[in-house]
Amino acid sequence: MKLLEERIRKDGTVKAGNVLKVDSFLNHQMDIDLFNEMGKEWARLFADRKITKILTVEASGIGIACVAAQHFHVPVVFAKKSQSVNIDGEVYSTKIESFTHKRVYDVIVSKKFLHPEDHILIIDDFLANGCALEGLIDIVNKAGASVEGVGIAVEKGFQKGGDLIRSKGIRVESLAIVESMDDKTGEITFRS
Ligand code: 5GP
Repeated sequence: MKLLEERIRKDGTVKAGNVLKVDSFLNHQMDIDLFNEMGKEWARLFADRKITKILTVEASGIGIACVAAQHFHVPVVFAKKSQSVNIDGEVYSTKIESFTHKRVYDVIVSKKFLHPEDHILIIDDFLANGCALEGLIDIVNKAGASVEGVGIAVEKGFQKGGDLIRSKGIRVESLAIVESMDDKTGEITFRS
């Protein structure tokens, strides 16, 4: 998606450790007009799929997923980072290792909000090594629901997550795929 690539070039900064900082428009301050165009694009790309719910993970997936949902007219459920373990069996839970914070979180979704008849579109801001997506897919599988596809804002194509998730036969639509980035020069190249 040209609009997103141009914005990353203009306002994104490359940090050491393969981190792309996009907090002026994507995951701290949020450009809602841009989110709206992203939502429109996912709706076009997934027009052939029956979607009943969007699933994301807190915190930075929520804003993007909510704006996108206005083009799908379905509810958004977000996986919550949890301190407490699942003692009463009322939640689906899984573990996600955070790429940016280098720690493992337990995340949960209430069993009330995911059902076997659900067709899920997973949305997130970044795809790096694929841990967040693997966790969300695990939750959908535990609910017996089906993953119709994954919508990602920025995929870092030089990390393993994209290949990992696509090798499971899951359709991943990333709106910008960074082929390479250099923290010394700030140069970013996109996959065409
Ligand atoms: P993964 O689980 O695929 O390794 O990483 C995905 C998660 O890590 C995303 O939800 C995102 O919050 C965070 N993340 C991964 N890479 C980056 C990055 O380069 N920049 C930012 N801002 N977040 C990232």
